[in-house]
Amino acid sequence: MIASRTPPSTGKTGRPERLLILGSLLSVIAIVCIVTFLLIREHASAQEAATRGATTIAQLIDADVLRTVELYDLTLQGLIAAAQREDLKNVSPSIRHLALFDRSTTARFKGDILLLDKHGDVIADSSRIEPKPGNFADRDYFLAHAFNRDAGMFISRPFKTRCDCEYADQWRISFSRRMSSETGEFIGVAVASMKLDYFDELFNSLDIGSDSTLNIINDDGVLLAQKPYLQRDSIGKSFATRPNVVRILREGNGSFSSVSSIDQQKRLYTYSRVGNLPLTVIVALSSDEVFAAWRRTALLISGATGVLCIGLLWLTWLLARELRLRHRAERELAQLAATDDLTGVANRRMLDQSLRHEWFRAQRSGKPLSVMMIDADHFKAFNDRHGHQAGDQALRDLARVISANVRRPADLVARYGGEEFSVILAETDGAGARQIAEHIREAVQQLPWVEGAERAMTVSIGISTWTTRSESTLEQLLFAADKALYQAKESGRNRVVAG
Ligand code: GH3
Ligand code: MG
Ligand code: MG
Repeated sequence: MIASRTPPSTGKTGRPERLLILGSLLSVIAIVCIVTFLLIREHASAQEAATRGATTIAQLIDADVLRTVELYDLTLQGLIAAAQREDLKNVSPSIRHLALFDRSTTARFKGDILLLDKHGDVIADSSRIEPKPGNFADRDYFLAHAFNRDAGMFISRPFKTRCDCEYADQWRISFSRRMSSETGEFIGVAVASMKLDYFDELFNSLDIGSDSTLNIINDDGVLLAQKPYLQRDSIGKSFATRPNVVRILREGNGSFSSVSSIDQQKRLYTYSRVGNLPLTVIVALSSDEVFAAWRRTALLISGATGVLCIGLLWLTWLLARELRLRHRAERELAQLAATDDLTGVANRRMLDQSLRHEWFRAQRSGKPLSVMMIDADHFKAFNDRHGHQAGDQALRDLARVISANVRRPADLVARYGGEEFSVILAETDGAGARQIAEHIREAVQQLPWVEGAERAMTVSIGISTWTTRSESTLEQLLFAADKALYQAKESGRNRVVAG
């Protein structure tokens, strides 16, 4: 195929496809970003709602525990006040017992209430008029009051009772206050114990998920109550070294997400200190439960978004492929419409189009424009001697030789018709055109035509050049080239004549 200039109408192909793919990729990225943003926001609001719920539960527990502890404190204060009254010292033991433990009946989950002297010996017992002998000088609360007059109301570590009664296995904590003489000397301790079942009942009245837990710890990190139990026998144990507990005890109130060091479950911890008491309520909601609804929504939305994006990309790919095929077909059609079938150079239509184009360009730029008319000599005779097939091949060879001598991209070789060719030489003056024409004429002569041919094939060439000095029209320029060709024929053929 002989190279010929591409038709000017094809434009920048491939650009709409690139724009389409870029646009659809940007849309997919935008969709993914928006969906991700919304899901993150939903996740944050699910966590916020769970924290609000957990805070409410913690506040309910706080209020109940505060009220209960207050009742115990009132009991202890009443007991101490009654024990120090002079007028009660000489009454009968039963009246004295009645007066001492008058207020204790209202306390919930109450265990024994005892009055200890400064040696730790029991001097009064709420459960019997004649106290059972016993010494509690080794208990943490006794030591706390004996050596510290400002201990206030002391809450003990969890313990089990020393009696061999049926409740011996029950966990309890005790609330205690110091009894001081008028001079501030330590004279004993009033102590009331409470069954930790109280917390179980309190927790049971609150509904949290099955994987979530409610906990109460004291300031030493010792677990007082838990629902449901994560470990057997964890009541009374210290968890003070666990990272979550360290953070909770340090901050007092707040909320964070972390993995439980006991069962490795991720939980949302919300915690609050109970008034001024050395107790902290911890509501640990299971992340699985908190985010279950969000996870379902996220899965659904991500799936739908994924399908949508894949569908969009697939459609884009289909459309881009169609566009590409259409452009290729258009390009091929345009090429065909502009090309001469036999020789592969530009056809007459392309020649006319390019001529007009170059003519106006030359008018604008003022640069010379040359046109060449090339006609094979005695071609009819060649055809008659060697046959039409050989004539066709000779025309193809002729086109190839002409194109080989016209190399600049702006130039155009076209088949004008029959055995006649035209060449447009943009920005080329008469001398330049003559030089090219001579090269063509000589090259044609060198061609090995058909075997056994008596003489070489030759061409006659007519040239016409437009410059700013000539005042011709395009038609006149073509006519002049034709006339020059005629003169070349007339004056013997195989020559170049410039008009
Ligand atoms: P001159 O030197 O005066 O140009 O003589 P000529 O024989 O070349 O000119 P003429 O116009 O008398 O004949 C042109 C011939 O070119 C006629 C036809 O047989 C041949 N011809 C035109 N088109 C084709 C073609 O497509 N294929 C072939 N094989 N021959 C063609
Ligand atoms: Mg002719
Ligand atoms: Mg001819």
